[in-house]
This record gives sequence, structure tokens and C-alpha cells, in this order.
Amino acid sequence: MAQLKSIVAALLSGAAALTAPSTASADLGVVVTIKPIHSLVTRLMAGIGTPKLLVDGPASPHAFSLKPSHARAINNADVFIRVSEMVEPFTRKIVKAVPETVRVVTLEEAPGVKLLDVRTGSSFEQHTVAEDHHGASDGHIWLDPDNAKAIVAYLAELLAERSPADAAKLRLNAAQLNDDIDALAVELQESTRSIKDKPFIVFHDAYQYFGKRFGVDAVGSVTVSPEVAPGAKRLNELRAKIRALDVVCVFADPLFQPRLIAAVTEDTKTGSGTLDPTGMMLAAGKDLYFELMRGLAAGLKSCLEAHT
Ligand SMILES: [Zn+2]
Repeated sequence: MAQLKSIVAALLSGAAALTAPSTASADLGVVVTIKPIHSLVTRLMAGIGTPKLLVDGPASPHAFSLKPSHARAINNADVFIRVSEMVEPFTRKIVKAVPETVRVVTLEEAPGVKLLDVRTGSSFEQHTVAEDHHGASDGHIWLDPDNAKAIVAYLAELLAERSPADAAKLRLNAAQLNDDIDALAVELQESTRSIKDKPFIVFHDAYQYFGKRFGVDAVGSVTVSPEVAPGAKRLNELRAKIRALDVVCVFADPLFQPRLIAAVTEDTKTGSGTLDPTGMMLAAGKDLYFELMRGLAAGLKSCLEAHT
């Protein structure tokens, strides 16, 4: 009996230690550049803390510039998570200047992440207007669910190392998230079945990870600035390309003016639609990654199913 009492006492004191506030977990400061990754990290850190997001609102990470408050947040972080210099050119300078206390994580270098080359060639134009990287990897890695799973597994161990008190919780959250991403991939495989092999082009070549994974890949891309209307010569080139590739739909990012898309597709039987590869029109948070991926499938379907 005395032995049982001491066991109960030991269990109770152990439980008290587990529920006592842990300074380690309260202090784990994580800053994330873009919404899709922030969404995954939010789930990973559930019950531990809330990661801070840099590129919020309807903004593209490709054209983002740091404010002093962002720079302060990065400099004060324990862990700063970005995807790649192609996706977030605004991180190029600051990662060379952060204090040694900041662990900079570049996800395109994470183990298990499968990289594709930036596409160039006859039917694909450069990824963004005024781009200066050549031969780089395509940075839109989160659009393949297998890469999302690799990112989650890698970050769970990295954060567990920074905050050992939270290791068990991080691993539990990572396992749950892994299962949720698996279920999402099965759902997307099913929902994209009806639109396989329908030729389309994109105004922003962001989708090859999604396209190759689910068999709904673009046949080409055109590079048009979201703000500047192309001239008559350029419009003729683009319409000729649409005809040559026998394109069913043209997809632009949400920031493109509808009249810009109409200018390219008018007088053709080609449809048009919108895709949002970074979730710029979605509210940040734990559900964003899943809403973004379902939104891509829905955006593709809404045009491709209506046009043949
Ligand atoms: Zn891009």
C-alpha cells in the first residue's frame, strides 16, 4: 500500500511538472514568410505557440518588401522560416545580416523535399517580369503534398531540438498533420480526375508541383506584369501562342485585372480563370493550406470542365 501511495505521488508530481508553465515553450519565437508554410507551422505548433506571418493580406511574396517592423521580428526570432530566394527575394539581404541567435531555415534545402527545375523553353516564359535567376529550382514546393509532408517532418524535429520541452507535442501534431495531408492528396486526386490532359496556360508558372503530382499540368506560361497592360504586338504574340497550343483556358493570379485577361482571350473560344498559389486572398491560419489546395483544384475545374 505504501508502495502504491509513493507511485501515485510520483505520478502526480510528474503530471504537475508536465502542466507547469514551461519557459522554453513560451519563448519559442517562430517567424514564417508566406501563408501556406505559416498554415502548416500553425498546426505544427498547436498548443505550443503561434508563429508570426510576414507576407499577409493580398500580396505576392515575389514583389514584397520588408518594413522595419518585419526586420525587427526576424532579428528577434528563434527560428526564421523561408522557402527560397526565388519565392521570397526580399529575404536575400536580411538572412546575411541576422544575429547568430536566429536559426534561418530555407525549406528548398530541407531533406525529403523534391525539387523541379524552373521551366524555360519554347512554350514556357520566364517566371516573373524582370527576373535575374537562371537555372534555379522552382520554389513553389508546397504545392506538392509530398513536399508539404517532408517540410512538416523536418520542421517538427528542428523545433523539437530548439525546445525539447515541446518535442512530444510537436511530434504528435506532425503525425496528425501528416495524416491530414495524406487524406487531402487522396481527395485532390479524385477531384481532378475529370480535367486531366486538358491544355491550359498560366500567367504565372507556379503550378508544376501541383500539376505533375495530379496530372493536370500547364502546357505553357506567359509572363505578363499584373499591373501593366501588354501592347498590341505582345497581345498578338500571346493570342498566337494560345492558338498554337490549342489552349482551353488561361489562368491568372488574383491580382491581375480582369480586363488584362480579357485582352488576351477575346475573339478566341478560350476561357479564363483565377488561381491563387500562395493563398493571398485567403485568411491566414491553420486551415489555409487545405483551402489553398482545394481552391486550386476548384479553380482549374471551373474553367476546364466548362470548355473543351
Ligand atoms: Zn512564382
